[in-house]
Amino acid sequence: MQNDLVLYNTLHRKKEVFKPIHEGRVGLYVCGPTVYGDAHLGHARPAITFDLLFRYLTNIGYKVRYVRNITDVGHLENDADEGEDKIAKKARLEQLEPMEVVQFYVNRYHQAMEALHVLPPSIEPHASGHIIEQIEFVKKILANGWAYESEGSVYFDVEKYNKTHHYGKLSGRNIDELISTTRVLDGQSEKRNSVDFALWKKAAPEHIMRWPSPWSDGFPGWHLECSAMGTRYLGEEFDIHGGGMDLMFPHHECEIAQSVGALGHETVHCWMHNNMITINGQKMGKSLGNFITLEEFFEGKHQALTQAYSPMTIRFFILQAHYRSTVDFSNEALQASEKGLERLMNAYARLNRITASGTSTVDVKGLRERCYEAMNDDLNSPIVISHLFDVSKSINLISDGKETINAEDLNELKEVFKLFIVDILGLGMDEKTSQSIGEGYKGAIDLLLNMRMEAKANKDWATSDKIRNELTALGFEIKDTKDGFEWKLAK
Ligand code: ZN
Repeated sequence: MQNDLVLYNTLHRKKEVFKPIHEGRVGLYVCGPTVYGDAHLGHARPAITFDLLFRYLTNIGYKVRYVRNITDVGHLENDADEGEDKIAKKARLEQLEPMEVVQFYVNRYHQAMEALHVLPPSIEPHASGHIIEQIEFVKKILANGWAYESEGSVYFDVEKYNKTHHYGKLSGRNIDELISTTRVLDGQSEKRNSVDFALWKKAAPEHIMRWPSPWSDGFPGWHLECSAMGTRYLGEEFDIHGGGMDLMFPHHECEIAQSVGALGHETVHCWMHNNMITINGQKMGKSLGNFITLEEFFEGKHQALTQAYSPMTIRFFILQAHYRSTVDFSNEALQASEKGLERLMNAYARLNRITASGTSTVDVKGLRERCYEAMNDDLNSPIVISHLFDVSKSINLISDGKETINAEDLNELKEVFKLFIVDILGLGMDEKTSQSIGEGYKGAIDLLLNMRMEAKANKDWATSDKIRNELTALGFEIKDTKDGFEWKLAK
């Protein structure tokens, strides 16, 4: 399977057969959150996209080292190296130590990710824990002549770099004109050209997050952390770097320039970018009033939401679109996903209850291959889901006694469903639901329903009806099937 995986490489603007640098191993780096607020939908998409990639690579036999960083320093309010540090600002407003802000939001981010069934990465390095690596990176870039020091800060010389390299190659921009029209002529700025970006910033006296360096007491530029931590844990060349499309320029463009500047060559073989999420056709933004956090989705506590949506509904919704397509969130679309997920999970539950009979009247052959084929085509999760839906119809017919399946086919179907639904797509019962039901609780309901089956077999209709009516009154939906029963918690 491994040789067949094809991924879209943003750098080359085409799909390419994935070939790891080291056989059987994959180095994967994904830009993680800047932790100064609760995770919102914009965080869920890259997390789920690259979780899908991580799960799939692992599933097809690779040993994956997945690094997803925590940005806890250097991300300024204005991406053009100006303004207050986002975390320091939050700390100032709430009278907290910046690392209290970081810890608080990292904990909450982890909770949200767990609810979304996003597996933890292999390494989750903090930018503030890698100041030494970042200073060493700046020293190399300076020594190679691609940066300059100015008033205690260090800037990458984009104009010089762009003469021999294409700054903008990843995002497909040509910045020649930008460079010539924005050259700083009046000497008022520390930068030679406004397109230059900070590698190290001298801290103003009131700036609390600061470290000593050869140039000043200060802090690293935001783009530097990913170059420093990526190469620290994955090597000077590694396989895949991912992130949201919004990071392509300037963040990832700067990473490429920094690698070339420090190491003399690029670091990343395959760049992958997930597309963005809009809400009712609009970009998400605090000022637009459609900035909905994941917790607000889970609890239905936002004016734009007509109900709560479970983490699995959010995950399913995201996986129903290809990661390079745009996704528009609306209540209607989420409700459709909720229903679709329920249909799929019900079919999965029924599958585990049906019994095999002599011959198969349904065709399940090739399902596994079709699902792998879709995943190998640049992680086409919506196609995988549509294949699973197709087979769900057959499962329901078998369960209703209208079709039959032999033991071999049944086994195959169970394996493929578990493999793709649980292991690869990462879908399952929501933590909240499963906790509220509880394993022992489930056993007790099954026991009662088995007693009811016995009562029915003995034609003890009074007991049978009593059990059914009492459970229904307690909020369970009971359904009789060919092989016995099914139940679920009614809404
Ligand atoms: Zn990054």
